[in-house]
Amino acid sequence: MTHTDYTKKILNIKDKNIYFEDDCLEIKKIKGIQTKIFHGYLTYIPDYCPKCGCINEGFNDIIKWNFKKNCKIKLTKVSNYNTLLLLDKQRFLCKHCNHTFTASTDIVDFHKQISNDTRKSVTLDLMTKDSEKNISFRNGISTNSTNRILYDLSKDELIKNNGKLPTSFGIDEFKATKDTVSKMAFIIVDHDKKNIFDINNSRLSNDIYKYFSRYPRSERNNVKFITMDLFKPYYKLMHKLFPKAILIPDRFHIIIQIRNALDKTRLSLCNKSNPNYNKLKKYWKLILKNEDELDKTNKKYSKNFNKEISQYDIVQYLINTDTTLNYVYNLYQGIIKSITKRDKEKFLNIIHNVDNKKLNKYTKQAIKTFLNFESYIINAFDYELSNGIVEGTNNVIKQVMHNACGYRKFTHLKTRIMLIKGIYNPLITQ
Ligand SMILES: [Zn+2]
Repeated sequence: MTHTDYTKKILNIKDKNIYFEDDCLEIKKIKGIQTKIFHGYLTYIPDYCPKCGCINEGFNDIIKWNFKKNCKIKLTKVSNYNTLLLLDKQRFLCKHCNHTFTASTDIVDFHKQISNDTRKSVTLDLMTKDSEKNISFRNGISTNSTNRILYDLSKDELIKNNGKLPTSFGIDEFKATKDTVSKMAFIIVDHDKKNIFDINNSRLSNDIYKYFSRYPRSERNNVKFITMDLFKPYYKLMHKLFPKAILIPDRFHIIIQIRNALDKTRLSLCNKSNPNYNKLKKYWKLILKNEDELDKTNKKYSKNFNKEISQYDIVQYLINTDTTLNYVYNLYQGIIKSITKRDKEKFLNIIHNVDNKKLNKYTKQAIKTFLNFESYIINAFDYELSNGIVEGTNNVIKQVMHNACGYRKFTHLKTRIMLIKGIYNPLITQ
């Protein structure tokens, strides 16, 4: 093997037109980091002139001119050293059009300084949840360069087209980048694949209508189930778009309504004049717990009660300090039990037989919501589907946004999420 062959093997360079001299390696500090610098040159006989298209048949057509010296190309690390290729690129002169042009190589794209191998390595890293700062450091490139690669990936058509609509999906919204409409994005999660289907840069009804209208009616008619939270405009919209789908409110969001009502009721009693102020403030978690899960037997010393007392007795004491709190508490317990046991009759019985005189404004609102959504809420009892996967996905998104210290561009955020969730893999499609 020649010297050039060895060097190219080490650097994983396959371009047969790149050559290295004996003394091609130099190690020096660049911006304080020890870097291996390889000097090489690129030359060949071009087949044609890229400017005028004439075929090169000899010295009368195209001749070698000078070199474009020291073109910087960032390679992947060698033995964990940042590695740089300084490439002298041959320049040519076309005798037909009198233009000069530079030799090209497939190790780096035109006008780019980062080798395709490095880009591949960064792309692989972008498919993990790691922060862009860490990814940049590991690959020995700047955060700007990593962002640039992400930007290039975000231009891919695959980001925009996700193929056939799933027949069962969940929808939700999440706080996204500043360039999204009202800073909120809309997410669609495929229930069968348990993965994101798509993310849209607006959650406004008009935009969502436009989004789904791209799919022919015949395809939309195949949609069987859609899960979502209790947000009235979405129901109207989804009915219009997917007339055959069963709309299922998320059970967690049903519980949240009455849970918030109970918590607000407790808070309304938390004023300094209430002798139980400290107890009500401290034991909020126990009040919200399913009463079947409260410990009845073990007694622990409580500073607030100045005695040993069980969880169950604490809650009993607190709910008996106020009649409204007591009523709302029992309402809440009844509702969460009916939902966990999928007891539809019990749930309907509760919401239809509340004593309005015993309700405060928070609870009235919650019951009103239940009655408004009654025809949908029963679906949450009849079908097991929930928006759980959507919520899980939203957590991944939150983590990604946190790691990136908040993305500025929606397309970047979306691309990163699609990469991490394995929906978009540019290395396979390349
Ligand atoms: Zn020419």
